[in-house]
Amino acid sequence: MEKSNIRVNKYLEVNLNKQNSLTRRNFLKTAAAGLGGYVMLSPDQSNKTKPISEKQRKIVYRTLGKTGIKVPVISMGVMNADNPNLVKAALDNGIVLLDTAWYYQRGRNEKMIGSVIKDYPRDSYVIATKIHDNARDRETGTFTKDATEKGFLEKFDESLERLGIDYVDILYLHSSYTKEMTLYKPFLKAMEKLKKEGRTRFVGVSTHWNEPEVIQAVTDSKFYDVVLTSYNFKQDHIDQMQEAIAKAAAAGLGIVGMKTFAGGFLDEEKTKPVDHNAAIRFALKNENITTIIPGFTTFDQMEIDIAAMENLTYTEKDSEVLELGFNSRGGVYCQGCQTCADQCPKHLPIPDLMRAHMYAYAYKNYWEAKELVSSLNVDSIQCDDCTRCSVKCVKGFDIKHKCMEIVSLNSVPQRFFV
Ligand code: SF4
Ligand code: SF4
Repeated sequence: MEKSNIRVNKYLEVNLNKQNSLTRRNFLKTAAAGLGGYVMLSPDQSNKTKPISEKQRKIVYRTLGKTGIKVPVISMGVMNADNPNLVKAALDNGIVLLDTAWYYQRGRNEKMIGSVIKDYPRDSYVIATKIHDNARDRETGTFTKDATEKGFLEKFDESLERLGIDYVDILYLHSSYTKEMTLYKPFLKAMEKLKKEGRTRFVGVSTHWNEPEVIQAVTDSKFYDVVLTSYNFKQDHIDQMQEAIAKAAAAGLGIVGMKTFAGGFLDEEKTKPVDHNAAIRFALKNENITTIIPGFTTFDQMEIDIAAMENLTYTEKDSEVLELGFNSRGGVYCQGCQTCADQCPKHLPIPDLMRAHMYAYAYKNYWEAKELVSSLNVDSIQCDDCTRCSVKCVKGFDIKHKCMEIVSLNSVPQRFFV
């Protein structure tokens, strides 16, 4: 079988050659041509607590493809949150879709959501969770035989139990980066079974890198209903993303966007925060994106993200701000482009390590970062031996420095993260 990383690099080589900065700039500058979906005032909230803002909120809804589910264009990525009151406030302020995963915070994330939604009518919220399996062969980009249907189903049982509900609305295969992973038969069988049993209404795939290939596989499969994908102004391959998403949407798939803020900062020192409003408007000017899942962890961030629905018109100023952000070097967001994948003589999985670094440094989600690093089987001394790092990041990351920082998490006892 063709090795995934080779295929990915070929894909990128071909497509990055196709790119030109003018196209990119035009894309960034394209003002919103209309905002799809429809705009309405927040529905009756009387069965919920008082909104934290006294003013009537403007909530913009779109429909999640053929699922027919209508959700606000702003949803909540709960991954980094651990405060049930924040989830409650999100629901009380118009958020409908809560995005979590079996894997997040070792189940505490789903449990925390369960403790909140038990007080809400089942039809007042939409729950999306994801099932993850680390039994992956990173060379070939496939799951190994240890990734079984039974294991998938057992994890899903745990998810439902933690959430305290009989069914979820969307069940994703978590973090696929190849066509083979997306179409892995034991997991397709598991999801088909769960859908037939009514324990999930819809099924999907989440993807962090090599997204166009995954989205294309999802579209061709005619099996899935939803895709959750990275989508932001920092992606060099945004044109390919847009093309794959357009085809998927035309085929009836619902598209959920994530990593909208590209890690939240434009510089390594975290002194230049991403303009949330501009980044949200950039993502949502693509009418094929139904909703995005900002991972707010504070009430203030929540206010900003929800209030963004009051004005979704993408402006010239937004494009100027984001163009500067796109061109900035370094920062915290690894776009998973894999350009660096084969450059380390010690075969360190650099893109995964950079993603873990973003989780720890930008999101302050140390647990998630440690889990990811632990799953990569890298020890703590590999970079020490190199006088000079041979890995060149297209975004200008200091790879050696970041690798050494993040791999040091291996030496921190697990119990410090619980
Ligand atoms: S410093 Fe680390 S990442 Fe760079 S080449 Fe050496 S082992 Fe690889
Ligand atoms: S570290 Fe840099 S080159 Fe490597 S995948 Fe991330 S953005 Fe691309």
